[in-house]
Amino acid sequence: MTIGWHFNNTYSKLSNTFREEIKPIPVTNPELIILNEKLASELSLNFSKIDKNELSKILSGNSLPKGSNSIAQAYAGHQFGHFTMLGDGRAVLIGEHTTKSNEKFDIQFKGSGKTAFSRNGDGRAALGPMLREYIISEAMNALNIPTTRSLAVVKTGENIQRETSLQGAILTRIASSHIRVGTFQYIAARQKENELKTLLDYTIDRHYPEIKNSNNQALDLLNLLIDRQCNLVVNWMRVGFIHGVMNTDNMTISGETIDYGPCAFMDTYDPKTVFSSIDQTGRYAYCNQPVITKWNLARFAECLLPLIDKDKEKAIKIATETINSFEKKYEEKWMNMMRDKLGLFGLDDKDKFLILDLLTWMHEKKADYTNTFCHLMNLEPTKNRLYEDNDFMSWKKRWEKRLLNNNSPKKYLELMKNNNPIVIPRNHKIEESLEAANQNNLEPIKKILKILEKPYDEQTEINDYQLPSSSTEKYQTFCGT
Ligand code: AMP
Ligand code: MG
Repeated sequence: MTIGWHFNNTYSKLSNTFREEIKPIPVTNPELIILNEKLASELSLNFSKIDKNELSKILSGNSLPKGSNSIAQAYAGHQFGHFTMLGDGRAVLIGEHTTKSNEKFDIQFKGSGKTAFSRNGDGRAALGPMLREYIISEAMNALNIPTTRSLAVVKTGENIQRETSLQGAILTRIASSHIRVGTFQYIAARQKENELKTLLDYTIDRHYPEIKNSNNQALDLLNLLIDRQCNLVVNWMRVGFIHGVMNTDNMTISGETIDYGPCAFMDTYDPKTVFSSIDQTGRYAYCNQPVITKWNLARFAECLLPLIDKDKEKAIKIATETINSFEKKYEEKWMNMMRDKLGLFGLDDKDKFLILDLLTWMHEKKADYTNTFCHLMNLEPTKNRLYEDNDFMSWKKRWEKRLLNNNSPKKYLELMKNNNPIVIPRNHKIEESLEAANQNNLEPIKKILKILEKPYDEQTEINDYQLPSSSTEKYQTFCGT
């Protein structure tokens, strides 16, 4: 019985400019910690007949599957606004696997050792952060938000040095591709139009074949990415997700969320929420995410200029107009998303006030973002006297009146339940499960993963997964862990 790999490595066939051919650096004692069997089956892969020892070798990169051809991809990026040459410094892409339904996915090992792009890094990753990426990326997928996925985590049997000595690990990341805004930036910086055209053609073939025959492919691609990224950030805002490091190298051309470093979900509603320890100015705060999305898209547009129009002035004019369509698109999509969260069908001139007044109240009263919507759906984890507040009660009356304007007032709850998660990955529960995993106890992580598989469903005995931490200590997250 074979696993079912079908590799077809198109990216590795591009010229040397785009990648370095390199194998994962073997690890001493690989041990499989977690395997996503559901995802494996979605990928038409079957690991059930492979013994754990062999599996650990495969999912650490110690034993490479037939047909794979591993590479580290080159890319650049604006990190906190500053342009830098980057590339896969601790990841290798072993190839593109094709599923039975003919979908193509990158199979990438993260934490697999040094590459030409490692700079001063060790090329490795620690167990806690890789499991954290596993939990949050899978939670995002269950929340119906486009994302890279996590197939497995393997301990390497080697320790790595961060502030303290930590257990090393490798994550198998699955993505519809790893092409980033930063990939275009890397190629554009080389100022060779034929290379840029190669990347454009490759990207369109892989992700947007519908524009293959269009008159202005570069412009169409820009418009499509604006749409995808706009939808993505609206989804993040919907569930209170804060990416934390929205550098242009962490923005995919597929529109999938990528790079789960310092990300976290917001508990108390505060638009300025930041978790990342290094984000001193709040560049990537919750409320700035749409602004930064537009900024990143503008960097993408700059890369495409030579392909948008031969006349540079004209290209700049077209690109600027296109990028400036972002705000209106975002505003419209955001309003509709908030209407969905509140169960509102149709449009009403006063919807915006209704929405903003609720958010202002939540901010002032330090209300929990997720649980406020649970309260409105009568699905609160525990009764909270905060919602007996007079201002809230009078807001609620306005909301109920607006619900009566719905064509079918009774359907509002269904709409709300499809848009408001009952449970999100709460920071303290993630930390608890990671601490246990570091002590070789995998039960808590299995439990949280199971609960987060069905974030919109009512589940019994999950109260402590729904409530925010009672600790007043600020939660902090870190890059490059
Ligand atoms: P990130 O903050 O995860 O988006 O990473 C930014 C860049 O740093 C990418 O080029 C990564 O490959 C690289 N990087 C992060 N951690 C390491 C590490 N431990 N060793 C080598 N490169 C790293
Ligand atoms: Mg990154």
